[in-house]
Amino acid sequence: MTQLRLQETVMDRREILALYEWAIGDCFRCAQTGALTARFCELDTPIGDCYELRACEQCILQLEEEGRRDADKHGREYQPGRLGSGEA
Ligand SMILES: [Zn+2]
Repeated sequence: MTQLRLQETVMDRREILALYEWAIGDCFRCAQTGALTARFCELDTPIGDCYELRACEQCILQLEEEGRRDADKHGREYQPGRLGSGEA
């Protein structure tokens, strides 16, 4: 049985990046500083501090790709732009 995967929606890099809000910051993942970054996740500490983790374009795309492959593996539908939304 041949499984056709032509209907698979592959989003354009730019479409994925457009789902995030970008600002100059530091990337938590590759340690790049002063780069265009998007908020990836927020961490609340027990003492009430809030850390913001940001990731650069390259890392966001890699994380999106990982998320897509993971969803694929589990037969789930992948929705881009959900990184850091708290939904695994
Ligand atoms: Zn990065």
